[in-house]
Amino acid sequence: MILRRDEPLAPRTSYRIGGNAEYFFIPARADEIPPAMSYCRAKGVDLRVLGGGTNLLVRDEGCRAVVSLERLKHTDCYGPFAKAEAGASFPAFVKKLADNGCRGAEALAGIPGTVGGALVMNAGGHHGEIGDFVKRVRVVEPDGRMVTLEHDACGFRYRDSDLKDRIILGADFEFEEGDRDEIRAKMREIFAKKKASQPLHGRSAGCVFRNPEKAPAGRLIDELGFKGTRVGGAAVSPVHANFLMNEGGASAKDMLELIQWIRNTAQERAGVDLQLEIKVW
Ligand SMILES: Cc1cc2nc3c(=O)[nH]c(=O)nc-3n(C[C@H](O)[C@H](O)[C@H](O)COP(=O)(O)OP(=O)(O)OC[C@H]3O[C@@H](n4cnc5c(N)ncnc54)[C@H](O)[C@@H]3O)c2cc1C
Repeated sequence: MILRRDEPLAPRTSYRIGGNAEYFFIPARADEIPPAMSYCRAKGVDLRVLGGGTNLLVRDEGCRAVVSLERLKHTDCYGPFAKAEAGASFPAFVKKLADNGCRGAEALAGIPGTVGGALVMNAGGHHGEIGDFVKRVRVVEPDGRMVTLEHDACGFRYRDSDLKDRIILGADFEFEEGDRDEIRAKMREIFAKKKASQPLHGRSAGCVFRNPEKAPAGRLIDELGFKGTRVGGAAVSPVHANFLMNEGGASAKDMLELIQWIRNTAQERAGVDLQLEIKVW
């Protein structure tokens, strides 16, 4: 187990924003996690789990304790069956699935981060989401027990699951067998559409708000006239209004002010209570 003190979190997030973690754990094995949890409990500190940091805004003051599963990153694929540890790169895993002819993987194209983050967020899009293919998930419960949850116990729903208070270690998946060239072609098509409609290369955390029932959040924010609006270094993308970008030097305070401004305006002018999709630490 590696334990670092005052680890900067900004370089570990796609926003490149935020302060340090007072305690930063990097376990080499899953059985090192429960002792780290006990250590934090004894100090009265919450232990948060960091994946790829692609759906995350870390506050400027940082946080107390963080565990990264970056060393638990093994993946395996045999026919339509696959296994992945939580710290594995999600895009690399999805590519492996496509190369092995796993039909359904194409729906997961272009989503950054780790397998653990994808599971807890039930990452996906119009064409499908990761929870559709999960057989079982291995987790550490808040009390330190390691258990396996079958699909139905995971509570997968729109960009959410019942996994969020647990530490995900890894999962088993099952896909349908498909033609790898067809899957790869479909994947390229989905990625090209994403690239045309979303600012994939700037510093963002993807969509900031969940889509409300009435209309997509991006359309609503655009209709409220926010595209291009800035607070300090934080700005609403002119390409997709649900992407709030760090255009350089944005603080978490800038980003949170912009978020609050949009939420207040959506409430006052459209009667919509926008909820955050990203996590704020
Ligand atoms: C350019 C861009 C495009 C994106 N497009 C999409 C998209 O199309 N669809 C989509 O769904 N998302 C999208 N996202 C958002 C993001 O990539 C996903 O939500 C992703 O699955 C988050 O994974 P992560 O590893 O980065 O999680 P993090 O950001 O590190 O963490 C997110 C949450 O998951 C928790 N978590 C992470 N790992 C674990 C674990 N092992 N156990 C327990 N909890 C854990 C964290 O504590 C945190 O609460 C996009 C983001 C960007 C920057």
